[in-house]
Amino acid sequence: MSFWPRRQCRKIDLGKVAIGGRAPISVQSMTNTDTRDVAATVAQIQRLERVGCELVRVAVPDEIAANKLALIKKEIGIPLIADIHFNHRLALIAVEQGVDGLRLNPGNIGSAARVREVVAACRDRAIPIRIGVNGGSLEKEVVEKYGYTPEALVQSALGHVRLLEDEKFALIKISLKSSDVMATLAAYRLLAKEVDYPFHVGITEAGTALRGSIKSAVGLGLLLGEGLGDTLRVSLTAAPEDEIFVAFEILKSLGLRQRGIELISCPTCGRTEVALIQLANEVEKALAHIQEPLKIAVMGCVVNGPGEARHADFGIAGGKGVGLLFRQGEVLGKLPESELVQALVDEVENFV
Ligand code: SF4
Repeated sequence: MSFWPRRQCRKIDLGKVAIGGRAPISVQSMTNTDTRDVAATVAQIQRLERVGCELVRVAVPDEIAANKLALIKKEIGIPLIADIHFNHRLALIAVEQGVDGLRLNPGNIGSAARVREVVAACRDRAIPIRIGVNGGSLEKEVVEKYGYTPEALVQSALGHVRLLEDEKFALIKISLKSSDVMATLAAYRLLAKEVDYPFHVGITEAGTALRGSIKSAVGLGLLLGEGLGDTLRVSLTAAPEDEIFVAFEILKSLGLRQRGIELISCPTCGRTEVALIQLANEVEKALAHIQEPLKIAVMGCVVNGPGEARHADFGIAGGKGVGLLFRQGEVLGKLPESELVQALVDEVENFV
């Protein structure tokens, strides 16, 4: 069950990925390699693709990086977004290099003529622009008028939006990011009343893997639960691949996307007579490559274990040094603890 209804907004296409409208909520990440190092950046993007990343953004700090974008794009299968600050020349080069999207705040690139030039280039190739407002880099005038408030994030974004709308450009998506969960929620709620462009959502600078995942899950859970969000990034101080894992787990928890296994495992208690924590971790790792949405139960004992395992597609229920193996409600056999994980993996792999 999900928390629909989703906010109605227009749809834009970012390369082959639709964002907004009724399109599935897409998952993106950002590389942390030096973009000038094509081999390292491509390798990281390919790893991201393998774990399900659907859009990828790279930082473009200078012309050398900008001029590598075509080489990177050639080697990857997902849309490439160039992240550009302040410099309209870099935006023009990125467009020329064939990127699928820009992240750029038009108010930060100087004169109206420069904005016009970038918009014209993007319009020619139907390249969307993400306006990304971040609580840490609001314009002085906006802060003076609104303070550090959700309203300030919204007004800053609307200022950038107007610059694009003045050029009759509507391939826009917007992000309002703050490291404060409730401020982020308040800001998107306000913005939803103002525009019908798709939203890129996330809690920025959320923190290290575990803390950041919790904060992101709470923030994105609240946003998505209200139907706010069309594409998302979980930003963690961790490997980008971890962001994708967390993003999908959040979307799966809300019933918004399906991908890979759903692991149902018990918290263990005084009745547990197998090394269940280890078993559950081994199962999760061994089935990480499975893309089909399968429910896998790893339960500690015969009290709740068989019941849960029966409702799952596959399952294990532990006993004293042994365990039962289930497939869709049917007991396949009793096995020693040491053979359980492999037997489960074999069953799943034969099935998919
Ligand atoms: S399934 Fe069994 S071992 Fe696991 S927490 Fe419940 S009672 Fe304890």
